[in-house]
Amino acid sequence: MIPFNKPYLTGKETHYIEEAARMGKLSGNGMFTQKCQAYFENKYGFKKTLLTTSCTDALEMCAILADIKAGDEVIVPSYTFVSTAVAFVRQGAKIIFADSYSDNPNINADAVESLITPRTKAIVPVHYAGVACDMDKIMALADKYNLIVIEDAAQAIDSYHKGKPLGTIGHLSAFSFHETKNISAGEGGLLGINDERFVERAEIIWEKGTNRAEFFRGETNKYNWVDIGSSFLPSEVTAAFLWAQLENIAAIQAKRFALWNVYYNGLKDLAAKGRVRLPQIPYFASNNGHIFYITLENLEERDNLITTLKNANIHAVFHYISLHSSPFYISYHDGRALPNSDYFTNTLVRLPLFFDLEIEDITTKILPIIGQLYA
Ligand SMILES: *Cc1c(COP(=O)(O)O)cnc(C)c1O
Repeated sequence: MIPFNKPYLTGKETHYIEEAARMGKLSGNGMFTQKCQAYFENKYGFKKTLLTTSCTDALEMCAILADIKAGDEVIVPSYTFVSTAVAFVRQGAKIIFADSYSDNPNINADAVESLITPRTKAIVPVHYAGVACDMDKIMALADKYNLIVIEDAAQAIDSYHKGKPLGTIGHLSAFSFHETKNISAGEGGLLGINDERFVERAEIIWEKGTNRAEFFRGETNKYNWVDIGSSFLPSEVTAAFLWAQLENIAAIQAKRFALWNVYYNGLKDLAAKGRVRLPQIPYFASNNGHIFYITLENLEERDNLITTLKNANIHAVFHYISLHSSPFYISYHDGRALPNSDYFTNTLVRLPLFFDLEIEDITTKILPIIGQLYA
């Protein structure tokens, strides 16, 4: 059987977890947490990063930091994971869903301005499959209307927009280390802060509303309850696991990129005949090999491909049912049709892509089945 995803282990994870245990500090903000945060800050140039227990948590911190209140509007693509919206809904925001491009699942930056009202507080671009949104256009709108940009960079580790790391462009950003992402800690996330004004408050919210981080650094002689917050920081077990993965990031990204290209090159002929559509990487974007997807003619063709692969013991999946028509939000949505989001909902298939997948699995097992189906 070829699974859709398989967690990758570098072999050092348990070693570092044992080391953390031996040091006698397994709660949050210990040596491994600080190593991971320093890694992100130094390698990618964030002002400050904080490890979190998930990307969803990091997005919740963003919603608090952006001071989202009841009635504020937040612009979010409809074609995304539920966390992108729910983190803001918890603060009372009204979500204004934006459509995708017709040939790229990312938010259509040319259509965002028409969604901005005096109540708009933030825009949340999602870099789908680790491929950058048009950040020049989005940041220009943020400047013009004084909005906060929060990048949902859950899938976008070590990927770039015109050479600048994703997650370092907006005011705030959120990454995921969920088992299905390129770099994993089982569950885990990271808050990226690029705007100085959020740094101090972020640390407090991270530590249950206390100034404990400051206290540990010796900057104050007692710690107190000073703000709202939650227990957003992960334990050192998570951070130690993550550290092992980060040490191997170059090899992980290279392998995933190679696999992605085997799919892409292997499907070019079918795409030229118009039987399948391939992902488009805009000129300003890099590709971190997070997801390889194709889109098909319609829902029947998509379901047929998934079933055909399943019968051959290959697990492919679809995802993201447009959030504007979800059972939870449909009655709050303003009724605008979002046809491109629905198009990806109905036609997109993700093919297996994980570190231990062999190139031969793709060339001798997966591609021949797709080729036969559309011969
Ligand atoms: C995976 C993902 C999330 C959620 O990440 P968690 O770490 O599981 O909370 C949010 N947004 C997008 C776009 C994702 O792909």
